[in-house]
Amino acid sequence: MNATAEPTADTAAAPPALTNSTFAEIAEVLRQHETFVVLSHVRPDGDALGSQIAMGLALQKLGKKVKVWNEEGLLEKFSFLPGGELVSTPPNEREDFDVVLALDTATRQRLGENCLAAIGSAKVWINIDHHPSNPRYGDLVHIDPIAPATGQILFELLQSQDLPLDEPIAENLFAAISTDTGSFQYPNTTARTFEIAADVLRCGIKVGELSQKLYESYPRRRIELLRVLLDRMSFDADGKVASFSLPSATANELGVIPEDNEGLIDHLRAIQGVIIAIFFEELEGGKVRVSMRSKDERADVCEICLRFKGGGHKLAAGARVPGALEDVANRVIEAACDVVNRLP
Ligand code: 5GP
Ligand code: MN
Repeated sequence: MNATAEPTADTAAAPPALTNSTFAEIAEVLRQHETFVVLSHVRPDGDALGSQIAMGLALQKLGKKVKVWNEEGLLEKFSFLPGGELVSTPPNEREDFDVVLALDTATRQRLGENCLAAIGSAKVWINIDHHPSNPRYGDLVHIDPIAPATGQILFELLQSQDLPLDEPIAENLFAAISTDTGSFQYPNTTARTFEIAADVLRCGIKVGELSQKLYESYPRRRIELLRVLLDRMSFDADGKVASFSLPSATANELGVIPEDNEGLIDHLRAIQGVIIAIFFEELEGGKVRVSMRSKDERADVCEICLRFKGGGHKLAAGARVPGALEDVANRVIEAACDVVNRLP
């Protein structure tokens, strides 16, 4: 991407904010402005879209004019979320806003080329996220690397500041928190997460119905894809590193779309003895999407992905690496083997 195509006003001149803006400061900015655009990362997951929609609905309830843009629009599998119709791909013409909200997005670039290009002027940029690698772009920044999901931070913001928090908003926040914690299983799930989940349920959501829509409604082609990937599964470092890769030709043959492969890496992580799981997806334009998971904090996959110009969390990270599929896979697997082989 051409770096000059990105608006840089908020990062070029001002040094990054070192301390978090308080929820009160953020709420004040939300209340005092009129026009908003809510953004999140490319290849959105449940936390990205759930957070975007929850914030969009809350701002609407405050009487604000709000756009919710995502580079990919609303994914088919999240189309059941109440308020999902708010999400669109960015328009071709630029639009001016009082406030840009970037949610769950570890770098400004991951907001997407088209989304960034569609923003004309903006008085304030707000960056709310839980990625430790976030470089704190924007004017008001609230990064909580302890929070297991951006949806959890938003719940705290809305509740503590008496901002709108009704059933549709709660349903989106539950989807965000549930998906980013692996259904409340990952080690970053805290007592507070369960307390918030309880409060969210008290808003009236039906957890069984919602979970079925989230986890038991996959299209059959996703499982056909899993079958092919398992056939291509390989192990390195005495079974501590497991990986599989998806060539774009295979994806085309199966008729799968990008959202179909999200979460399939969990099958690798779930294997006894595996410490690092890696998924490689061949993208258009000579790049490979690398997705990594770790089961051991000492095997920090964010650190590995940073070496390939990506980022994320210690236990879940990713990168987009230029190069041929097999070549990138070899290099990344080697880096992962290095890390697990050095573990005591
Ligand atoms: P996933 O493997 O689900 O795509 O991503 C796992 C985590 O790594 C997410 O928190 C995501 O934000 C982060 N991540 C994935 N790809 C990239 C990337 O290319 N750059 C950065 N900075 N973070 C990424
Ligand atoms: Mn997240």
